[in-house]
Parts: sequence; structure tokens; C-alpha cells
Amino acid sequence: MKVGRPLLMIPGPVICDPEVLSALSKPTLSHVSPKFIEIFSKTLEGLKKIFLTEKGEIFVVAGSGTLAMEMAIVNICEPGDNILILSNGYFGERFKEICERYNLKVDYVEVKEWGENIQPETVREKMQKKEYKAVTLTHVDTSTSVSAKVKEIGEIVKDTDTVFIVDGVCATAGEEERMDKWNIDILFTASQKALGVPPGLAIIAFSTKALETYEKRKEPVKSYFMDIGLWKPIMDAYAEGQAAYFATPPVNMIYALYESVKQILEEGIEERFKRHQTIAKAFREALKALELQIVPISEEYAANTVTGVYYPEGVTDEEFRKNMAKNGVIVAGGLGKLKGKIFRVGHMGTVQPTDILATIAAIENSLMKCGYKIKLGVGLEAAQEILTKI
Ligand SMILES: *Cc1c(COP(=O)(O)O)cnc(C)c1O
Repeated sequence: MKVGRPLLMIPGPVICDPEVLSALSKPTLSHVSPKFIEIFSKTLEGLKKIFLTEKGEIFVVAGSGTLAMEMAIVNICEPGDNILILSNGYFGERFKEICERYNLKVDYVEVKEWGENIQPETVREKMQKKEYKAVTLTHVDTSTSVSAKVKEIGEIVKDTDTVFIVDGVCATAGEEERMDKWNIDILFTASQKALGVPPGLAIIAFSTKALETYEKRKEPVKSYFMDIGLWKPIMDAYAEGQAAYFATPPVNMIYALYESVKQILEEGIEERFKRHQTIAKAFREALKALELQIVPISEEYAANTVTGVYYPEGVTDEEFRKNMAKNGVIVAGGLGKLKGKIFRVGHMGTVQPTDILATIAAIENSLMKCGYKIKLGVGLEAAQEILTKI
């Protein structure tokens, strides 16, 4: 059977709400028209509520999460600066690669085994020995589905001149995350993850401390497009209900973002965190019942937006995911050194309890077809136990 509407359960892009998608097909307006100015202005205002920041300044630019990572680095750091990179996996490694391109002095701290979590104590020790211009941390490293100790590490960085950069690409608007309260200086995400919008936008917030650090630069930012000094007057103008031009904003993408921001605020950010927690918990209970092991070494570390799961002995990535697709559910394979060893299920954005149940049913079915001995329904039952409590 040809599956006409597969259930997309990967860690981005995610399934989008139909209203969000239809916003894309509205007539493209001039980027300086009053109507667009109003939409952009409300979008920026709404994003601050989602990032949980009052003073932070939001930048929305065409691009992906990787652009946002690079924007954070190039605006804060200058060649020769010390930077501390805390890595729980693949996207931590990416930060290192970016920083090396810009000739920064990189101290790279990574977990010994993927699935572990960088401990605040390690950060404290590092910061006592050296002054860093910035510290980077990946909130949810999508490769391992470990959720980092952002709040605890923020406490350590807080009273220093170091800029705390957090990659929220697989977290913001899904995983509990509080920019102001947790002392995050730069927080960014991309549209296609927990914000539930198609890929195409990088969204990045700078705290006052981050903006001040930018102001103190000795040299201009080497990139023209990524220079937030050029973007700031534009974002300020839109926020105040006026237009200004630097580079044309992706008008229709911003309509879609606006629609999603509206929906997120209607649900309420705290409610949204809870929904993600419940669905993730239900999924983990199902995996336990199926005797499958998750990548995070402790459930405490497990993210609520994505879950990485080890294949049991004898089940191959290719066969499993082929069967999943036949069942109409698309899940992701592993990244980096976990490629072929795990599958990953994204459960963020508009994800519903029935989506995770359908995914569990497809996992049971596919595992059985791959020769893994299970009793059909045990995963579903465990998940239902959690879902019926809400
Ligand atoms: C997806 C992701 C990125 C990269 O985003 P792109 O939009 O693919 O460039 C960066 N960091 C994390 C944590 C991610 O999940």
C-alpha cells in the first residue's frame, strides 16, 4: 500500500498544524506593508514569551539552526578568544567545528560515552582555571536525546563576564527552558523543531549582557549577513511597529511562524512543557515494557522532545525503519557514532498522545517482523497507563 500521509516522527522537521501550513500560501505582502509589520511585531513579542525572556532581544532570520549556532559564535567571539564547549554529542561537536573555523581557542569538554551528561562540577573547575569569552551548551543534543543541565550550569556562568550560549534547537518551546531565570545569554532555535513550523527560519535571542559583549568588540564581525549589529535596528523597528530594511525577511515563513506562536501561547508555554513531559514519559514506559534501552544512561537525563533507542540484538536499522515506513511512521536513524545502532523518535511541537500510540504500535509491529520476540500490545498498555492519568 502506498502510504499517503506518513506520520513524521523525526526530531525535525516535525508535523505542522494545517493552519500553520496554510499561512504559507497567503499572498506575499511587501515586507514594509502595515499588515506585515503588524504580524512581524506580534511574532517577536510572542517569541519573547516562548523564550521566557523580558529584556532579551529576538532576531528572526532566514536560515537553519546551524546558522543560528554560527551567529551566536561570530557575534560574541573574536580570533584568539577562549571558548568552552560542553558537548553531549553530535551537535556539541558541531560547535567545535564552527569555532575552529574562526580560530578561537577551544576547550572542548565532551562526555566519555554518548548518553552521559556534562556535570556542572566540570564546568566550575574549568571556569576557575581560565577566563572564557563564552561557554556553549546544547540543551537537548538530538543525537543522544540527553537534556543538559542548563539551569545548574547557568548558575555557574551567571556572575562572570562569560556569555552563556545555549543551543535550544531541539528544546525551545518543548523542553522546559527559561532564558531569564536560567541566566542564558544567547538562546536560539530553528523553526522546524518544537516550534512546529517548516524549516527555514533561525530564531535567536540575545540578553543585555550578550548585546553589551557585542558592543565591546574590537573588530567588526567578519560576516555581513550574520552581524546582529546590522539586524538590531531592523528588529527594533518591527517591534515598534515600523519597517526597516537590511535583508528581505522571508515574509510567508514569518506568517507561518506567527500562526504557530499564536497557537503556542493559546496552549500556554507551561502546559506545553507538561504535554511534552507526559508524552515522552508514556513513550519511555512503553520502551521499558518492550525491554528496549534508551540512549541516556539515566532516565533523569532523558529529553522530552526526542528519544534515542538502541536496537536490540539482531534488529538492523535498515530493516526496522523499512518496516516502520510500511506502517506509515517515519522515525530517524542515529547520528555520528550511533549511526546504525539506534533509532530516534521526535515527539515535539504539535505531537498528540495518539501520535505516540501510533508510533508505539508501529514499533511493536516492526520489531516483531524483524524477529524480536515481544508480546504485542505491552508497550501500548504501558503508555496508556500514563496517558490515561492526564
Ligand atoms: C537540528 C539541530 C541543529 C541544526 O539545525 P539545522 O536546522 O539542521 O541546521 C542544531 N542543534 C540541535 C540541537 C539540533 O537538534
